[in-house]
Amino acid sequence: MLEISHLKKSYNGQPVLRDVNLTLAQGEVMAIIGPSGTGKSTLLRCVNFLERPESGTIALDELTVDAARATQAQIHALRRRTAMVFQNYNLLRNLTALENVMEPMVTVQRLPRLQARRRALELLDKVGLADKADFYPRRMSGGQQQRVGIARAMGGDAKVILLDEPTSSLDPELIGEVLAVIRQLAEEHTTMVIVTHEMKFAREVADKMIFLEDGVAAGEGTPEEIFERCGNERIRRFVRRVM
Ligand code: ATP
Ligand code: MG
Repeated sequence: MLEISHLKKSYNGQPVLRDVNLTLAQGEVMAIIGPSGTGKSTLLRCVNFLERPESGTIALDELTVDAARATQAQIHALRRRTAMVFQNYNLLRNLTALENVMEPMVTVQRLPRLQARRRALELLDKVGLADKADFYPRRMSGGQQQRVGIARAMGGDAKVILLDEPTSSLDPELIGEVLAVIRQLAEEHTTMVIVTHEMKFAREVADKMIFLEDGVAAGEGTPEEIFERCGNERIRRFVRRVM
């Protein structure tokens, strides 16, 4: 359902992604791991053209976008089919939790407000925040804000949810509640790509894992393959260091 082929991206002539290839089936969860600065965020942001890749193709269901020739209509279509969960939540500060979740439903999907409201309340309930619907972000903990961010991502038409280190801004005691929500989505077979340093969690929820290094997916396999049978000494060293 998601297939990335020969993706390339440079900043100021410096290649970050040199030749990234990956495939993900519907209902699968992919974890992307790798050292800092290797392009994990860049890769996620290229999938929905928050960053424009130089070349390569991104295919999502029936939509295939050739990065070098992407039209605005294609980029728009790709953005509708993906949703992003950011490290720093990126909630709108002047909107309540409920309004944040409703926002893409109203502006992107053009749902009537009443319908959007009903759906947003369901989603807030699902992430355990039914009682915080009318709270503004500043009155919520980081973990609660991130759960709103996840509810917002689930509210759109997205075929795949992209999560960029969803717990790395959180205090340790708040990480668990956010991971629990993501784990529940994984159990419901939500297609997701997660950049994370939470190795134990990644191993538990991911069907596939890639190790990004030097602009390519150096290791790709099941978490077991990456963690145990992986022949690449660098991956093993990295995994050992962050565990
Ligand atoms: P981390 O684990 O620290 O989040 P990362 O793997 O997500 O790192 P990226 O943020 O994708 O790494 O950055 C990859 C490289 O691209 C880095 O060398 C970074 O400095 C560079 N880079 C990222 N964004 C830009 C930008 N907008 N302009 C110039 N260089 C950038
Ligand atoms: Mg990053």
